[in-house]
Amino acid sequence: MVSEGAEQRPAVYRMIAEDGEIVYVGKSKQLRARLLSYFRGSWPADKGMRILAAANRIEWTYVPNEFAALREELMQIKKWRPRANVMGKRDARHYAFLRLTAGRAPRLQVVRGAGDGRGFFYGPFVGAVRLADAVRELSDALGLRDCTLDRRMAFDDQRELFTHDTRTPGCIRYEIKRCLGPCIAACSSVAYDERVSLARGFLDGSDDTPMDALRAQMTTASDAMEFERAASYRDKLHRLEGLRASFARLRFAVETLTFAYPVAGHYGEDLIYLVRRGRVVAQLPAAGRLDDPTALAELAGTIDEHPGVRGSAIPPHEIDELLLLSSWFRQHPAELARAVRADGSRAQVLAESA
Ligand code: SF4
Repeated sequence: MVSEGAEQRPAVYRMIAEDGEIVYVGKSKQLRARLLSYFRGSWPADKGMRILAAANRIEWTYVPNEFAALREELMQIKKWRPRANVMGKRDARHYAFLRLTAGRAPRLQVVRGAGDGRGFFYGPFVGAVRLADAVRELSDALGLRDCTLDRRMAFDDQRELFTHDTRTPGCIRYEIKRCLGPCIAACSSVAYDERVSLARGFLDGSDDTPMDALRAQMTTASDAMEFERAASYRDKLHRLEGLRASFARLRFAVETLTFAYPVAGHYGEDLIYLVRRGRVVAQLPAAGRLDDPTALAELAGTIDEHPGVRGSAIPPHEIDELLLLSSWFRQHPAELARAVRADGSRAQVLAESA
């Protein structure tokens, strides 16, 4: 089944069943040795032998370097979804993401990957348990729900749409004022959406809108001599300020993954990858600039000219690539050290606060 033509160079290979189904996609920086290793396993204990048994031919695509093989493998796995590949396992235990779910009453939750890809994603974070604690606090502070996604919602302004008793308490969180109670028509969809916007502003960290809004509400309540309400806003404000610091500590410094990364090709196809916040935004022929720090810094300075999402939220389809690059540079600090930032400095070992 292994063609004599398989060369000892980086490639992505596909195991294909008789009916054309792509059973498995893999990568190797030494294709020939990798393919031959499949035939040295023991049946049926060895996974490679089981994959081989399901396939009747192997195809491959040569790529310039191991990093390219890694990215191409991810792309092909996403495209073909082979049954023998286990998606989402790469570094999944190391990082967690915060997801603001889609739907009528979004909630915050800690996830390991993009799942169904719906909602807004923030991260990656290190320390899933501590992240879950911080998320619980944030949900409490903003009055967001934390119940299961299939729970039926019944907003105050949509009460007529529902026939069940809308005043039945949803759960204890409503009773202790930690949820606005969108399940029991205790708030309008507009009021709930405002809290969701506060959460997004908080997680984007781009401005102090959530804090400012709470400060304004606190002042208004205080001016109206509603001191109990003012104290409640003050407490929320303090909790949010503490949480902002917690999220900053837990957040993996994805900003450190912005640079020009030069990689020598196996057959001289040298490339420079422009990486922004852990995702490749462009790849260019090195054209003699592989070992030229000044030229690399200049290229790194053009990174923001390339299209892509800029905010803190990560498009779900980019999560796997972000995990892949984080994992690659974490496991290969020497590769990271060759990358050059726009200010000419070399990229450092990834800073994590776990
Ligand atoms: S009060 Fe209702 S919406 Fe809020 S968390 Fe409890 S069940 Fe969910």
